[in-house]
Amino acid sequence: MVSRVIPVEPFDLVIFGGTGDLARRKILPGLYRRFVDGQMPAEARIIAAARSENTDAAFRETVRAAIGEFVTKEKQDATCIAAFLDRLSYVRVDATGSDGWQALAEKMRKDVIHAYYFSVGPGLFGDLARRLHRFGIAGSRCRIVVEKPFGHDLESARDLNATLAEHFDEHQIYRIDHYLGKETVQNLMAVRFGNMLFEPLWNARNVDHIQITVAETVGVGGRGGYYDKAGAMRDMVQNHMMQLLCLIAMEPPYAFEPDAVRDEKLKVIRALDHADPAQIVRGQYLADEEGRGYREDVENPDSRTESFIAMKLNVSNWRWKGTPFYIRTGKRLRARTSEIAIVFKDPPHSIFGDQESHKSNVLVIRLQPNEGINLKVTIKEPGPGGMRLIEVPLDMSFKEALGPEADDIPDAYERLIMDVIRGNQTLFMRGDEVEAAWAWADPVIAGWEQTGDRPIPYDAGSSGPEDALMLMHRDGRRWREVKA
Ligand code: NAD
Repeated sequence: MVSRVIPVEPFDLVIFGGTGDLARRKILPGLYRRFVDGQMPAEARIIAAARSENTDAAFRETVRAAIGEFVTKEKQDATCIAAFLDRLSYVRVDATGSDGWQALAEKMRKDVIHAYYFSVGPGLFGDLARRLHRFGIAGSRCRIVVEKPFGHDLESARDLNATLAEHFDEHQIYRIDHYLGKETVQNLMAVRFGNMLFEPLWNARNVDHIQITVAETVGVGGRGGYYDKAGAMRDMVQNHMMQLLCLIAMEPPYAFEPDAVRDEKLKVIRALDHADPAQIVRGQYLADEEGRGYREDVENPDSRTESFIAMKLNVSNWRWKGTPFYIRTGKRLRARTSEIAIVFKDPPHSIFGDQESHKSNVLVIRLQPNEGINLKVTIKEPGPGGMRLIEVPLDMSFKEALGPEADDIPDAYERLIMDVIRGNQTLFMRGDEVEAAWAWADPVIAGWEQTGDRPIPYDAGSSGPEDALMLMHRDGRRWREVKA
């Protein structure tokens, strides 16, 4: 297969928080993979800026170890690693003071793209924006990449947008939602808008309902302090799941261009009905055999924060009126799986009589594991014995369809960082989108706080509280199984 990788322009990428967990696990290994694939030009440089005292040599060794841990063996080549590490340097910078900024400013080259990745806690985003300006390194060709969480409610998101807007134009601000960088998520748009097959059926006349599931087996891990203030609604629904819902529900944009796509997503968020509290189930995982449940993990014995949420949502517009969107996400569930299922309606009349095995067509877009697309169709069971119908999958696993090339699919972060350098904001959230999503989420969260709503306990390793199943059973529907 001929490589279609086109190198990006020369750049200086500064990773604030370059020694943190995200940089170590995702950003730096991802950049290395782009380097190996020839997408990073020889003149590219990466500068880690963080609070601790460190040297270039010591930082490079931590990156060497991260590559060893997070990059597949096939891509680990000693010469490539050495050449990549050569591009790295470290500057000690205090985001809240003036230490290190002059040294950083002196490192930035004049004639290349400047990208600043804010991979630090959200409390520091404003501090960084201000200092980039004060130290004269926020020219019009620079961009900033802002990590999640983008605010914890509408007011804080507005404040953050306003602070960033004091120093940067909207076209310079890249609010990252790594779900948008996933190959299958982009494929969702290719399937919808690159084929004639699905789009005519993509509406309430033909689609019975849509299910979006993001299930994790892990608990809150070391993020307990943050998570207990956020919960699944803020951590997953307001951003990632909302983005997935938008891509499924949006009208065809006039072009695959940043504002065209983002305008359509925004319309979806605005068309969302207020979530009905009776159509929401919140859950919290119970202790496992080792005695660690959610409350132990976050060290808050009275916590009312949800580690699981299932909701029925309605998009009130011509296309979707009457077709519900069921979404659920949770931690410590039975399997790690993320998928979107478009469940089509039954044919209006069955010429084959009532056959139990006759199921509706389902288009499943698997985000993980084993990214791919699967369409369930009904066919005749082969052989004699009359007209018996069975359901078979038309399966397109990327691994099978694309062979070894599928292993080369860039990780969401590396693709998105290259988009930042290319100046393409299509897969990043615009400020008004984030605000609209908070404007929708805030009253739901406020309702729980006012009523003192308590999440329902569920067993670790289950598929969430029974009530979540009831949410669909009441409508005569059922969730797809949570399985890997
Ligand atoms: P982390 O705590 O592991 O690392 C924080 C980094 O910020 C360190 O490099 C530290 O030196 C630096 N830092 C802290 N205070 C500083 C200061 N005053 N001046 C300069 N540098 C300072 O955090 P993380 O897990 O890497 O997360 C970084 C950001 O990414 C957060 O906003 C987080 O919400 C977001 N995020 C992380 C993950 C993940 O998997 N870790 C996933 C999604 C989003």
